[in-house]
Amino acid sequence: MDWVFDGGRPCLDLVNTLRSRHLAEPVELLTSPEALAEWLGLAGFVVGRKSVTSGNVTAAKTLREAVNRLLTSPPRAADVLIVNKAAASPPPARLRLDGGVLRREALAPSDWVATALGAIASDAVDLAASDALVRICAAGDCGLRFHDASPRRTRQWCSMSRCGNRAKARAHYARAQGRNR
Ligand SMILES: [Zn+2]
Repeated sequence: MDWVFDGGRPCLDLVNTLRSRHLAEPVELLTSPEALAEWLGLAGFVVGRKSVTSGNVTAAKTLREAVNRLLTSPPRAADVLIVNKAAASPPPARLRLDGGVLRREALAPSDWVATALGAIASDAVDLAASDALVRICAAGDCGLRFHDASPRRTRQWCSMSRCGNRAKARAHYARAQGRNR
């Protein structure tokens, strides 16, 4: 399975790195530090490939599952805590005065991932506290989450090309079968 970025929000794209959530055994895509580094890069975060650790993978999955529960089921205090902690963990931006010149204090390699996960957690904070609608794809064999930002809030599919067209084809086939009977 490939990465998908159809969630409409960074935090939902992270949630969707566990695919086929409708199954008893979903498909894990964050299988290694390399996989997390690749996903973070594709999601637009600057992270050195070698700076991602297996501890970061665990942290990303913990955040991911807390975000998923907060956005798709009755909220629990434990999940609020996890998201708040991740949102607060990035090191603050710091200026350094270097011989009269102002520079931004460089982040340690290990801080890049915390910064990326912090941004994702902040996105989850904004989304969870808004009246935005988070939906689960209507295709029974998908399970992807997305932010419904359609004007009438009627979006049903994670993406038209992946699930929408398949569903339309099935409905068309069913109608055709009905006519032929
Ligand atoms: Zn779908």
